[in-house]
Amino acid sequence: MADQSGSWWQILLGKLGIQPVTSPQPSNTADTAALSPEEAQAYEDLRNSLNVVFDNESNREPTAAETSVTESTLRSAEAPTLRAVPLPISRPGQLLNLPDPKGIARYTITGRVWPNNLGEASICMWKDDKLAAFSLTIDDNHIQDHPFWTQLCDEFGFKATWFVIGNQVSWQNESWANWQALLNAGHDIQSHGYSHLCDAMFYIQREYRQSVEVMMDNLKDAQVVTHAYPFGFKTNKVGSRCECIKTLNDRAEAAKYFLAARDVIGAIAAINKVDFMAVPSISNLRNFFNSTTTFAYFDSIFDVNNKINYRAWYCGHMHHLPDQATKDYMRQVFQHLKKKSADVWVGTFTQIAKYAQQYATAKISNLTVQNKQIRFEVTDQMYDGWFNFPLTIKIRLDTSWGTNLKAVQNGKIIPVQVITYVGAPYALVDAVPDAGLVIVTPA
Ligand SMILES: [Zn+2]
Repeated sequence: MADQSGSWWQILLGKLGIQPVTSPQPSNTADTAALSPEEAQAYEDLRNSLNVVFDNESNREPTAAETSVTESTLRSAEAPTLRAVPLPISRPGQLLNLPDPKGIARYTITGRVWPNNLGEASICMWKDDKLAAFSLTIDDNHIQDHPFWTQLCDEFGFKATWFVIGNQVSWQNESWANWQALLNAGHDIQSHGYSHLCDAMFYIQREYRQSVEVMMDNLKDAQVVTHAYPFGFKTNKVGSRCECIKTLNDRAEAAKYFLAARDVIGAIAAINKVDFMAVPSISNLRNFFNSTTTFAYFDSIFDVNNKINYRAWYCGHMHHLPDQATKDYMRQVFQHLKKKSADVWVGTFTQIAKYAQQYATAKISNLTVQNKQIRFEVTDQMYDGWFNFPLTIKIRLDTSWGTNLKAVQNGKIIPVQVITYVGAPYALVDAVPDAGLVIVTPA
């Protein structure tokens, strides 16, 4: 995040909890475009008046009249004068997320790759050279289910992703401590918007921005970089109590704040063609529970003959767990994932979104093999401030290397293991792109 602390009006806006939004151009030089004192005062007055109209703590629906008045007033008040928000600043050649490939494959999907010659390297499509990936995501603030989820995840050694509605954390005995506990246990806590698109004051830029701010402010060591669109990417509010709020999800806006965002389309997308700002997800993991072909849909991610699903990312989402039967289903899902653990990487939504985008743009360079020492660098095109997840690099060895290796990156020890395929040894090294030289030697 850019450092924009300092000037009086920034402090003022910060105190008001306002994130000014207008410029589509993240820029290091935006600091010159400050508000005049009159503009800042007008903004404060507007904000105060809106707080009277909408009490965010009350869960009261604004009327349609309130909605239209507020939205137009707020937009016209902010539009001409406010400066760039403190977006992450990407350097040239670094992307916050990949563009929508619009159906064009970014790369060719193959089975696992096994290089032939000593020192030859290949970046694995998924962590630990698994065939495919799976993430469990949980929407909305159903804290009553936390004990069940944490117990189940601990039992199987999996981590889940919760998409949290920012302004609901203070409701109904909920507190940030519930989410901090999950975060501390290694789970992934991410944004489901500030008001779930249910408060007219939070039109879309602020809906996204404010959700990140409130979570980063209240959760120690949180990295809020992914999002689940409330009501799905297409914002289907029909029949919801928030239908009167006209705010819609917006891919271009979301792409300024998040490295990936989750939709609710119930399908698996080909991983080399997926739009990371609209990742499909399967509600209630329902394909697991097809009574005649249990797990067949899930298992299609291992099927070389399935042109779309092979090696893909299966993402599922849950809401409140209403009964014991649903909890029992979840246990079956986890059991199946465990059974398939040689082939599926169970990661969090954010880990998988990072890995897949790094992989799509990563390269190995300066690879040398000399005197029982392999040296290389791995680079990608993604923003280093966010994309810091290790990629698994596979390197062909010969048997003289033994089975105990040591790997360092930029002087720090990194994970390495030796596996065997058709009699030949291979190293699997976990290295972060753009984080320095990697050196592998016998231990
Ligand atoms: Zn939701």
